[in-house]
Amino acid sequence: MKQTAFSPETQMLGYGYKPELSEGAVKCPIFQTSTFVFRSAEEGKAFFEMAYGKPGHEGEEMGLIYSRINNPDMEILEERLKIWDGGEMGAAFSSGMSAIATTLFTFLSPGDVLLYSNPLYGGTHKFIHHILTHFGVEVIGFHAGQGRREIEKMLVDSGHAKKLKMIFVETPANPTNDLIDIEMCHTIARRFSLPHKQVILAVDNTYMGPVFQHPLKQGADIVLYSATKYIGGHSDVIAGAAVGNKELITQVKKTRTFFGTMIDPHTSWLLMRSLETLKIRMEAAERNAAEVAAYLDKHPKVEKVYYLGFVEKNNPEQAYIFEKQCLGTGSMLSFDIRGGEKEAFQFLNHLRHIKLAVSLGGTESLAEHPASMTHSDVPAEERAELHISDKLVRLSIGIEHFRDIISDIEQAMEKVEVPLPAIL
Ligand SMILES: *Cc1c(COP(=O)(O)O)cnc(C)c1O
Repeated sequence: MKQTAFSPETQMLGYGYKPELSEGAVKCPIFQTSTFVFRSAEEGKAFFEMAYGKPGHEGEEMGLIYSRINNPDMEILEERLKIWDGGEMGAAFSSGMSAIATTLFTFLSPGDVLLYSNPLYGGTHKFIHHILTHFGVEVIGFHAGQGRREIEKMLVDSGHAKKLKMIFVETPANPTNDLIDIEMCHTIARRFSLPHKQVILAVDNTYMGPVFQHPLKQGADIVLYSATKYIGGHSDVIAGAAVGNKELITQVKKTRTFFGTMIDPHTSWLLMRSLETLKIRMEAAERNAAEVAAYLDKHPKVEKVYYLGFVEKNNPEQAYIFEKQCLGTGSMLSFDIRGGEKEAFQFLNHLRHIKLAVSLGGTESLAEHPASMTHSDVPAEERAELHISDKLVRLSIGIEHFRDIISDIEQAMEKVEVPLPAIL
């Protein structure tokens, strides 16, 4: 049986690594080096020609040059990252933001239009509105619930149709788990592509991936990750990734070489270790989240739970998107507590085990208040539209015993003084 026939979780243990190149070490060592020795000047010349894409080296294997360009830990990590999404090539970065910024800068030029889904991760929102626009890129948002016709009409009526160059979506949306139809975005990208201009669809798959959603299979061209979250999974690294076909990722890697946004050898090594347990971690957290969501759903001090397992009940018009593109319900959920910021803060301040911190996807459960923390920068009007109110609390569920998570929530809820209904 060829090794490529194995499941991703099996391949994470050794794929892409040759022990004979490292004194027989079972695991890939950390190649903590900035530069690599050439065997001859001719070899150095050939490697540089290959690195800069000069012709005449077709079929030759590129050698190691300098750790901003290539490094064994980064390369083996990239070989493994691409497997989950079924991509041809992966690229690893120093952070999720550097993966996103490097990718957008690779394909966008002044005068181009970027269509994006709302809400986006705060850092991405800032990047596209304050940095891309500064470089002459126009950005236009749409939100979950807007159909293809409506979005296409908006592009055409505003005179942006011809200039559309990229679509960037994040689904499920943070923190409300609203879904964007990836296949619909792919159709829009195709409709607005011209013979000399491919409209590229990039999907930030941090929330569900790479286990519970594979956007390339739905027609995305590039999948992006904050590997800080589930891929790293232990709340101890900052890293990012991009996966797609060879042609597009090769272009992204070229930009990365000159921005210097690559991952370092030690973090690559940590991520290889994390990838070995990715699936069992994500599945354990998913099971826990289902228990926590069911508990919160019945709690008298909770008004509404935003959880993908409740898509039928919360968003029946989105259930078909869930069926089409999600392979699981994940472990992110939010809820509206009865009251407002005061009650939400009482809850957060009384948690004993669950940490009050932003970020997500780690082994430990985390809680935060989107309106005043991760989404405080979103204008109040937009926040209201997106249901990010003062009573919303976001939870990232970890891999503890679920009863411990629930008992912590229970004791914190007991401390919350919910306002009595007004007596008329
Ligand atoms: C955290 C996050 C990012 C940014 O990643 P960093 O690793 O913090 O740079 C981007 N997108 C989403 C959805 C995220 O949750």
